[in-house]
Amino acid sequence: MSTRIEWNHNRIKRFWSRVDKTNGCWLWTGWTDRDGYGSFRIPNGHSRAHRASFELTKGPIPKGMCILHSCDNRRCVNPDHLSIGTNKENIYDRHLKGRDAKGIQHGTRTFPGRCIRIGTKNGNAKLSESSVLQMKKLREMGLLLREIASAYNVSISTVGKAVSGYQWKHVGSSGRLLDGREWMEFPE
Ligand SMILES: [Zn+2]
Repeated sequence: MSTRIEWNHNRIKRFWSRVDKTNGCWLWTGWTDRDGYGSFRIPNGHSRAHRASFELTKGPIPKGMCILHSCDNRRCVNPDHLSIGTNKENIYDRHLKGRDAKGIQHGTRTFPGRCIRIGTKNGNAKLSESSVLQMKKLREMGLLLREIASAYNVSISTVGKAVSGYQWKHVGSSGRLLDGREWMEFPE
């Protein structure tokens, strides 16, 4: 289910040719998989169409993350109806195994039914306030700095500063990691 699609002109055209844009949901008119999600053929297999749409319009999906529908319409690929979520079980599971990143790195397993909403915005490689907030949430959920860094295409130290509030104090918060430890912002 991992989608890291190389978008080129033809692929983008092919994608949108299978989308019926209504005022609300944008319906996938191509194949659907057995779970009712749109299915988009890519060189190495298939991507779920809503994930492909998210990648195409908002940017890369961080490894191990899932994409949620606010409209509960699995065929819908309207980016406005899509948000990024994470999988509690997947992350918690990994956490229990001593922060072994392997399971999530490949990002091949998702459990759509257990997705947890963590925000409505994502995708920009730029470090906007919303991505800082999202990084903090991912960090709270136990993701490693380097996983977040690779998801956002930024350096580990950038993520470190962002999630610690060193540079982004106004966005700041504190929280609790899965193992119960509290983290807080650095003082200025
Ligand atoms: Zn929709």
